[in-house]
Amino acid sequence: MPRISTQEVERLTQEAINLGATSSALIASKEIVVKDDLAMLCNGEYTCPNYGLAASCPPHVEGPAEFRKWQARSEYSITVKIELPVSVMFSSERKGVMQLLHQIVATVEQKAIAMGFNNSKGFAGGSCKELFCEDHESCRVIAEHATCRHIEYARPSMSGFGIDTIALMKSSGWSSQRAEESKDNDSTSWVAGLIMLA
Ligand code: SF4
Repeated sequence: MPRISTQEVERLTQEAINLGATSSALIASKEIVVKDDLAMLCNGEYTCPNYGLAASCPPHVEGPAEFRKWQARSEYSITVKIELPVSVMFSSERKGVMQLLHQIVATVEQKAIAMGFNNSKGFAGGSCKELFCEDHESCRVIAEHATCRHIEYARPSMSGFGIDTIALMKSSGWSSQRAEESKDNDSTSWVAGLIMLA
């Protein structure tokens, strides 16, 4: 890991906000909670419609066990939150917000790599297949063993690694109330991402 002060690392949170995040925080990577049963929800009693469709979703991602190994080698992580009205969360505008989330995470990940955190990894939410490759029949990485069409922005979903987003919110010092808990369309919901520095 590079010899960089906490203050310098914290600049990445400002980068995230400049790119469009509502909030961004620096947390200790050991605070990230990973649960096998959360990862299993992708293909459990209810199977996610995006299961298996992209290289960044299960069963094509490394999952919780590998994540824990990366986590053990990481001291700091950056969390990212975009707040949005519940009405947007369940509208056609959601796609643009999720694309922005991926773009913020990927850009901060690349800035962390430029700082010397060469093994940094970004994680977002939602499937990159529906966000970036909806008009393509298949994920190019899976179908052709080729490079991702949107490698500059598309990042894996936190779900497939069992990352507990509620715990992530709490570690960041933010409210964790979820959109589904509110029936009020004017209330605020959120989507989140993570960049693990290593
Ligand atoms: S090619 Fe498309 S579906 Fe496959 S990983 Fe890249 S963005 Fe996701």
